Amino acid sequence: MTAESAVRVRFAPSPTGFLHVGGLRTALYNYLFAKHHNGTFILRIEDTDQSRKVEGAVENLISTLDWAGVHYDEGPQKEGQFGPYVQSQRLKIYSEHARRLIEKGNGYHCFCTPERLDQIRQKQIAMKLPPAYDRHCRDLPPEQSAMRVSSGEPHVIRMKVPIGGEMTFEDIIRGKVTIAHKILDDQVLVKSDGFPTYHLAVVVDDHSMHISHVIRGEEWLSSTPKHILLYKYFEWETPQFAHLPLLLNPDKTKLSKRQ
Ligand code: GLU
Repeated sequence: MTAESAVRVRFAPSPTGFLHVGGLRTALYNYLFAKHHNGTFILRIEDTDQSRKVEGAVENLISTLDWAGVHYDEGPQKEGQFGPYVQSQRLKIYSEHARRLIEKGNGYHCFCTPERLDQIRQKQIAMKLPPAYDRHCRDLPPEQSAMRVSSGEPHVIRMKVPIGGEMTFEDIIRGKVTIAHKILDDQVLVKSDGFPTYHLAVVVDDHSMHISHVIRGEEWLSSTPKHILLYKYFEWETPQFAHLPLLLNPDKTKLSKRQ
């Protein structure tokens, strides 16, 4: 197997609670897939949402994986070539990439206040429309945005989703998935505190860690079109995707991290 075709997969939990059986199953599928293909299994901690971080969760994740015999080849405390493997230690990489998107016209600064966003959301709810950003800041002249940023005005960075058309991608489990661009929101990529959102960080990391197959829970399927657009904007090859059906409680409700 050449370096190009090497299988590299990752388990990328957020430390927002302790590992439950659903998460452990995702980790196990990744681990077994890597072993089967003589590949590499990576553990990456996705802790960009610092407000939801639970004390002791990272230690619990690592010790639970160890207890289950799901040993990772690269990850925290096992540094490989592509670390660090904790997202909060990679902030510079994400802001550099966000800057690139803006320069290329695939991203923009948004200065809308939480109050304005709330007002448009309330209106959309009243009109029975799905809540989405109204793209108010999308076409601000770049020089004007740059000035507002340098004067310290609070802002986020959003991605530009094409207005019309649709996209299709292949999921190893689901097959062909087609989504109209109009149902995708201009997703926030960098929050006002300068931290990236999951969507920017996951794409930058999966690319820079040379992930060949993204094997994750089905709840991420609806985010995948946004991720594929980002791969396109960065001119990167997309990994293969496999979204695993969720493990449910006997009453068909979702398992929570507390279970
Ligand atoms: N950080 C996400 C989670 O907590 C992982 C999503 C993914 O694997 O891309 O489930």
